Amino acid sequence: MKKAIIIGSGPAGVSAALYLKRSGKNDVTVISNGKSALAKAEKIENYYGIEAMSGEELETQGIESAKKLGIDFINAQVVAITFDDLFKPIIETNKESLRADALLIAMGASRKSPRITGLSELEGKGVSYCAICDAFFYQNKDVCVIGNGDYAIHEAQILAQTSKTVTILTNGTELTAEVPENIKVINKKILSVDGTNCVESVTFDDRSTLTVSGVFVAIGVAGSTDLARKIGLELDGNKIKVDENMMTNIPGVFAAGDCTGGLLQVSKAVYDGASAGLAMIKYLSDSQ
Ligand SMILES: Cc1cc2nc3c(=O)[nH]c(=O)nc-3n(C[C@H](O)[C@H](O)[C@H](O)COP(=O)(O)OP(=O)(O)OC[C@H]3O[C@@H](n4cnc5c(N)ncnc54)[C@H](O)[C@@H]3O)c2cc1C
Repeated sequence: MKKAIIIGSGPAGVSAALYLKRSGKNDVTVISNGKSALAKAEKIENYYGIEAMSGEELETQGIESAKKLGIDFINAQVVAITFDDLFKPIIETNKESLRADALLIAMGASRKSPRITGLSELEGKGVSYCAICDAFFYQNKDVCVIGNGDYAIHEAQILAQTSKTVTILTNGTELTAEVPENIKVINKKILSVDGTNCVESVTFDDRSTLTVSGVFVAIGVAGSTDLARKIGLELDGNKIKVDENMMTNIPGVFAAGDCTGGLLQVSKAVYDGASAGLAMIKYLSDSQ
């Protein structure tokens, strides 16, 4: 059986999983890291067949009925996507790595950057959102990663292979992951990222500073745009570009729901998911 992996258990991911599983030809696993946008909706009153239901209830119903069909759900945080020698996707989570024959990214809309003075102005001039893409430019230099969880640690570990020092800046939040010994941690709140033409330092709320050449942003969970950018998916702003079959520019990698833009509503996410599921069935049966 071919293996389809879906990142995201919101309406897009679960709809795709239903079609894939019901084809009877594919092994389907859905990975998700807790709550979706849907679960945050207090009440859904504009979706077909529902008078009023909390987003959380609708999400739970969707997931429970999918589980009854035999779809596997894994609770884990995806921190990276890579490819094997045959160019099949490998999904790296904070718990394990999984190989897929086809992958669907249904991770919802991407997160915004934190509001820190100087951060957006210095984007591309020392502020980066992708360690694997930009670590090369910071060889033997001091860098920091803004974040406090598994995703930040993953980025810091990539940088630690080539940079002189790596410091995690939690920006006043509590660490939620174990930090390896070679990585320092500063818990203070960040006031600004400073530099004239490129990043030179970070200033904290007690006016102390850290001299760095690079600031990598890895807050919370890796968002759809973060992962997309790292594997070279074409983007339109912060939305993943897909063709009429919900396939990205990388064969075998599909995207659906809020992460592809358009109407950010449950109905569109369900439609996208169904379309992606059907296209993935065809892709999997056509491929070796
Ligand atoms: C407050 C609020 C109210 C809303 N009200 C309505 C409404 O009334 N009607 C309506 O139609 N729509 C409403 N929406 C919009 C609707 O919820 C979204 O359009 C819909 O949920 C999008 O579905 P999705 O599957 O694309 O993404 P999401 O529902 O956001 O699901 C994304 C999934 O990806 C997972 N994920 C993300 N990153 C990772 C990672 N790194 N590792 C593992 N898993 C990851 C998440 O855990 C989640 O399971 C509302 C949204 C919000 C926030």
